[in-house]
Amino acid sequence: PVGLFGEQRKNSMGVNLGNDNELKTLADAIAASPQTWAAKPLIPGANLTSASVAVTDPADRRRNVGSWQPADAAAVDKAVANAVAAQPGWDRTPAAGRAKILEHTADLLEANRGELIALCVREAGKTIPDAIAEVREAVDFCRYYAAQARKMLGQVETLPGPTGESNQLFLNGRGVFVAISPWNFPLAIFMGQVVAALVAGNAVIAKPAEQTNLIAYRATQLLQEAGVPAAVLQFVPGDGATVGAALCKDPRIAGVVFTGSTETARAINRSLAARDAAIAVLIAETGGQNALIADSSSLPEQVVKDAVSSAFYSAGQRCSCARILFVQEDIADKVIAMLGGAMDELTVGEPRLLSTDIGPVIDEDARQILVEHAARMDKEAKLIKAVTLGAEAEHGTFFAPRAYEIASLDQLKREVFGPVLHVLRWKASELDKVIAQINATGYGLTLGVHSRIDSTIEQISRSVKVGNCYVNRNQIGAVVGVQPFGGEGLSGTGPKAGGPHYLARFVTERTLTINT
Ligand code: GLU
Repeated sequence: PVGLFGEQRKNSMGVNLGNDNELKTLADAIAASPQTWAAKPLIPGANLTSASVAVTDPADRRRNVGSWQPADAAAVDKAVANAVAAQPGWDRTPAAGRAKILEHTADLLEANRGELIALCVREAGKTIPDAIAEVREAVDFCRYYAAQARKMLGQVETLPGPTGESNQLFLNGRGVFVAISPWNFPLAIFMGQVVAALVAGNAVIAKPAEQTNLIAYRATQLLQEAGVPAAVLQFVPGDGATVGAALCKDPRIAGVVFTGSTETARAINRSLAARDAAIAVLIAETGGQNALIADSSSLPEQVVKDAVSSAFYSAGQRCSCARILFVQEDIADKVIAMLGGAMDELTVGEPRLLSTDIGPVIDEDARQILVEHAARMDKEAKLIKAVTLGAEAEHGTFFAPRAYEIASLDQLKREVFGPVLHVLRWKASELDKVIAQINATGYGLTLGVHSRIDSTIEQISRSVKVGNCYVNRNQIGAVVGVQPFGGEGLSGTGPKAGGPHYLARFVTERTLTINT
């Protein structure tokens, strides 16, 4: 059958956790994977001398996960030189050959699924279902961009023109891309950025978030095992202020693909613009201040279920998460009471257990921001529910879900990246005001709508400026090739990850006109 990608391909199947055999296979694979990992820069010819940094488990900081070695300034410079030298040859290899390497990578990701899931749980504190989804999405990105590359880059396009003239359009890689990936999707987004840039004919320097270097290192190894040459994809770990900043200042860089905060995207943009060099491309996927609007025709049970999964699962650490629930006055008391009840059912704790709904946040800095936000909300807003943490959480960086009723959106100045939901009531006559308030945040990533009135759904979905609008369901977990993902305004530059236009931003177009 024709797959979802318009080819003989479909999305990865993941693991059926309700099936004992599949569960046992997964448990055995996790048990057989290493207990610790060691990562080092993968830069051919670099002389590496810096000291390694220890990695501990966010769920229990006493647990060692391994170590990674940062790249120093000379190694970063060497990586750029390697990439510049290697890119033209890579660009000349047929796109189908590069697509094949991505497909081989997808197979290797599946073959190493147990280890990758273990890594996502141990290094990033992901729950097992989230870790499974992470591997699935990484596999999907490989297969989807491979299929897109075959379609889009596979042949030269011949264009109609006057008699006696031949016109052709060629697509080529831009040069060297820097991929700066986030810790919240340490495998999936890492893979999505890197393979898109690679398959389009670029050399890639991968600079992942410092918190999840071990996962990125293993992913790089698998890509190289699948056939990506060592100088075409290099792993250049380090912190943003040194390694990231040095890369974005470098005049030899043709583009940056970044997922992270709006602030950092702005800093990268400034740095690229200040170079005395060709104008670089910046593809940035940034934050959100995402709303869920529920009107009085919606089903409170469904609103609460979707609000809980959109706001609290993954410890609220998705840029797509719901942060503000606008609930219409008529059903507000009921929804708020049910929300508190549903939150009581959440299990926060050890992500290694299948019974856990919500694991730790990524690190102490992230937890501290949430603690400070909650302290302010405790004073300025009405607490609906604060989920309590068990004593076993004391050695990890946990933050239990909280929900507040707020009086005005002005109380939320910026995105708070964690499991905190803010509820606002609205009256029937105020829908336009709600829409205007959401647009006034300047962000435009996801929007949830719960309503059974077609004209309301249409009005909201047409006038709220967001990249992904979800109606009568949750607003997280965009599927590659099915729900192309990404926002506008303060939420990002586009194009959408996992969508048909993504690869176009990674190539240059050359027109060849020959008078025959
Ligand atoms: N694609 C993810 C989702 O749909 C979010 C990506 C992100 O947080 O950067 O939930």
